[in-house]
Amino acid sequence: MFDDLLKRLGVEPVNPGACHERWIDLPGAEELESINPATGRPLARVKLAGRADYDEVVDHAVAAFATWRTAPAPRRGEVVRRIGQALREHKADLGLLITLETGKIRSEGEGEVQEMIDMCDFAVGLSRQLYGLTIASERPRHRMIEQWHPLGPIGVITAFNFPAAVWAWNAMVAAVCGDTVVWKPSPLAPLTALAVQRIVGRTAEAEGFPGVFGLCIGSTEEVGERMLTDARLPLISATGSCRMGYHVAEVVGRRLGRTILELGGNNAVIVAPSADLDMAIRGVVFAAVGTAGQRCTTARRLIVHESLHEQVIDRLAKAYKSLSIGDPWQGGVLVGPLIHEQAVEAMQSALRQAEAQGGTVVCGGKRLDRPGCFVEPALVRAVRGMPIVGEETFAPILYVIPYREFEQAVAIQNEVEQGLTSAIFTRDLVEAERFLSAEGSDCGIANVNIGTSGAEIGGAFGGEKATGGGREAGSDSWKAYMRRQTCTINYGDQIPLAQGVRFDVESS
Ligand code: NAD
Repeated sequence: MFDDLLKRLGVEPVNPGACHERWIDLPGAEELESINPATGRPLARVKLAGRADYDEVVDHAVAAFATWRTAPAPRRGEVVRRIGQALREHKADLGLLITLETGKIRSEGEGEVQEMIDMCDFAVGLSRQLYGLTIASERPRHRMIEQWHPLGPIGVITAFNFPAAVWAWNAMVAAVCGDTVVWKPSPLAPLTALAVQRIVGRTAEAEGFPGVFGLCIGSTEEVGERMLTDARLPLISATGSCRMGYHVAEVVGRRLGRTILELGGNNAVIVAPSADLDMAIRGVVFAAVGTAGQRCTTARRLIVHESLHEQVIDRLAKAYKSLSIGDPWQGGVLVGPLIHEQAVEAMQSALRQAEAQGGTVVCGGKRLDRPGCFVEPALVRAVRGMPIVGEETFAPILYVIPYREFEQAVAIQNEVEQGLTSAIFTRDLVEAERFLSAEGSDCGIANVNIGTSGAEIGGAFGGEKATGGGREAGSDSWKAYMRRQTCTINYGDQIPLAQGVRFDVESS
């Protein structure tokens, strides 16, 4: 049904899973099947890279780095600008492939490609703004500067739910910083990675810089673990579950490598007594059920003032019942499938635990009687302290918890292990400011009168605590992809020492 689309994107029935300047032929390699979660049917297959193929990809990334780092940053920006143009040309096709492979609805699939394009635009501007400082020296006729150099080949490990945008957050910034990139995508979305690699590799090659972007699709053992211990990759940027992040931090830390960790969230929205409820309901429903609850920024907890509690539950239940669930490529559908059977089982198990711990399912939670991994988003009446509420179940479950005092709402919001994103709906300026203050939300992202998801690329994205502390995309996140050098230049004829230290030696 989508054969033409795959062909246009260069995806064959069976594809090699490793690429540097060219695709590596992988005769006899083990194959990975990419499944459409809405139908349960295979889309295409990928031959998995082994250890030797991985080494070949990284060797090329090291070699390409030697040239790429010497290209002026605005020239690197020009290559990224061309990549942005190529992505614009393929936006609809690539967006649909993301929809087919991950189950996110069409406008979200295309939105993800738009996010890649936005990252290209951002990175092009950045390529002329990799500013360092001039620092006042305490010594006469001395000048101090701080400058930023390319870091090296960067390892990028991505999660299934943003199979292209997360790569772009990292790769486009890393590229203008002068780094080359080795990408290990999720085994649940390998075709999106193949299609992106084809577009980007072609463009970089046409610009005279083949090998800047490498791809390696392989097992955790053969490729993932090898990346973590590989000293040729000074930085590993890993996006995924907290469990994965704890492991990555430990293994990369053992070799004193750098990490950017973008891990799980357990995000909350507070609905205060003065909230505009129409806005709150719309904001919460998108945050809780968009992408079928499979965003790191999905709202999983709703902390509602007790005076509004029943009214909010009623209105949400009504909104939930009106959601159209179905094939994510069809217009009008708002909720597609979960990624696989295990995700459906994890959701059912979480709902059983919620009930055993004193919660009540208000609506939803059932699996749909049709092929594919479809579920009804669930709304659960919960109370503070239920253990399951502290977990990130990667599915559309929203726990609604009442509160009485503002301080209590903030305490509930902050009492989970993760610290990615948070929001408050309020018309009370003092409450809003307190939520954003040092004694308010402890998350990397804090919003007022919008939901927890749908971040823009201009701001640094990431979270605290078990979310890993990493920051990607906008603001000054680029600094993580470069090495900082402090330089002191003496243009005088004396060698004075800092801090007034005297060390007089005869020089003749
Ligand atoms: P996951 O942890 O199962 O996998 C993520 C990636 O890590 C995959 O590419 C996987 O192959 C790789 N991986 C797993 N073990 C590894 C190892 N030992 N060595 C090297 N690589 C390894 O996560 P997922 O199910 O793909 O994605 C969902 C999770 O990702 C959720 O927890 C979600 O919140 C999180 N996420 C976070 C962000 C963010 O920016 N904070 C964005 C998207 C998703």
